[in-house]
Amino acid sequence: MDLNQFPRVALGHWPTPLEPMDRLRTHLGSGCPKLYVKRDDCTGLATGGNKTRKLEFLMGEALAERADIVITFGAVQSNHCRQTAAAAAKLGLECDLILLDMVHGRGPSYPTSGNVLLDKLLGARLHQTSPSSAQVKLQELLNRYEMAGRRPYVVPLGGSNATGSLGYVAAYRELGQQCADQAITVSTIVHAVSSGGTQAGLVAGAAFYDHRTRILGINVSRPDGTGSAENVREIARDVLERLDGVPPGLDRRVEVVDGYLGPGYGVPTEGTREALSLAARYEGLILDPVYSGKAFAGLIAMIREEKFNADETVVFLHTGGNAVLPAYVDEIA
Ligand SMILES: *Cc1c(COP(=O)(O)O)cnc(C)c1O
Repeated sequence: MDLNQFPRVALGHWPTPLEPMDRLRTHLGSGCPKLYVKRDDCTGLATGGNKTRKLEFLMGEALAERADIVITFGAVQSNHCRQTAAAAAKLGLECDLILLDMVHGRGPSYPTSGNVLLDKLLGARLHQTSPSSAQVKLQELLNRYEMAGRRPYVVPLGGSNATGSLGYVAAYRELGQQCADQAITVSTIVHAVSSGGTQAGLVAGAAFYDHRTRILGINVSRPDGTGSAENVREIARDVLERLDGVPPGLDRRVEVVDGYLGPGYGVPTEGTREALSLAARYEGLILDPVYSGKAFAGLIAMIREEKFNADETVVFLHTGGNAVLPAYVDEIA
């Protein structure tokens, strides 16, 4: 596999650390598998997160196409939008963020603090609109820029397409190297899944190397049973077609776990609050209430249900997101 054939820009700090979670393991009791955390909250770009890896390839493609503006979408408190704004700032590109009003009933600080504050500091232009108006807003911006002779580049929701997913193929390889160096055999990687590019890249990596490592994505955004896995499979196939072809059995490698979403995307549950608290108090690890906290709650529940053996090794991929915490002060504090 040759990832060097794709345009890429350096945006992050690699490799991100791989750390044991021994105190939490002891707390969870004798049936608990060995636990590690892969710190993709520490990618270094404007408080970090998983989108940095995708943006190295997406921004590489934007520069190769001589773009001068990037446009992307997300929820109001999108970590993806914040990291895209930071990448654009670092590379000297202008940035428009279409922020979609998709999380209802949040506290008074939700629309202005956290990632929104950082988006503004990073110099992005913000356009708040409803999810149903996103395409209209995009078309309006594209028309305006094309008339003015500009070269806009559109990054998909969450940076999730074959190009962005290359970042998580690279991450799978990076983790494999760390595990080889530390003599760790990983049975399962657990992480939050939303737009799907992270899991697609990891699955593509595991399929490429023909490893048996399970990639368990915890659904944190779509109502249960509404096609999260199909979405991931589609991106995984696309990314493998750009590498060395799609191996047999790919679809079976994509495992999305439902049951931890609660009332909906961006709405923390009791389990999310417990996960934030356990990670913080036993490991000094700060999770977020939208993605990593929900996924961690899923991991803890599966450990309590003895879904893993005590002698296997599970890696939790911390995808970042804690820049959102000020927006949830009323619900978390
Ligand atoms: C975007 C995001 C995810 C989900 O990654 P996808 O590739 O969209 O599935 C998980 N955690 C955090 C903190 C994120 O910002």
